[in-house]
Amino acid sequence: MKTAIYPGSFDPVTNGHLDIIRRASTMFDKLIVVVLINPLKSYSFSIPERVGLLSKVTSDIKNIEIDSYDGLLTDYFKQHNVDVIVRGLRATSDFEHEFQMAHTNKDLNPDAETVFIPASANTTFISSSMVKQVAMFGGDLSKYVPTVIHEEISTRLKAEFERQLNRK
Ligand code: ADP
Repeated sequence: MKTAIYPGSFDPVTNGHLDIIRRASTMFDKLIVVVLINPLKSYSFSIPERVGLLSKVTSDIKNIEIDSYDGLLTDYFKQHNVDVIVRGLRATSDFEHEFQMAHTNKDLNPDAETVFIPASANTTFISSSMVKQVAMFGGDLSKYVPTVIHEEISTRLKAEFERQLNRK
């Protein structure tokens, strides 16, 4: 049995992430999607919110588990008997950072192999930060995030933007 892990911020999950999740779930017996905390980043959605959104958009996928972790990916990898780390690659601009992370993870745990899945042509330009910008200015998110969470994300981000404006 092969278990893969797809780690990320998912702040929030987009159609690009979901595309990688669906494709990876057909390649492995079990796929764990784990929301990780990067202390150097600031987030718009809380961990429970991001886990909740991921659970909603993947409810039809049988061999998936959604989790969160506030430690090193390689520790989670070891504790859960994971075989492979999955990451998505959108463009050469992703490559340098992803390559460095893959090497770091392998250095921390020689068993931690990373597999890169290329973004699909129709989702390659989508990122969580682009979704956030579009939503905050009231733009239509329907092509960028799964329909089932599109309303929730738009409302939540518009409210956050209002709060930010009021603070200025
Ligand atoms: P992180 O903060 O770990 O980069 P993200 O949530 O931004 O977390 O991304 C998680 C993973 O998903 C990364 O490997 C990233 O390259 C990939 N990814 C993000 N957006 C897309 C997309 N549109 N298509 C394919 N992969 C993507």
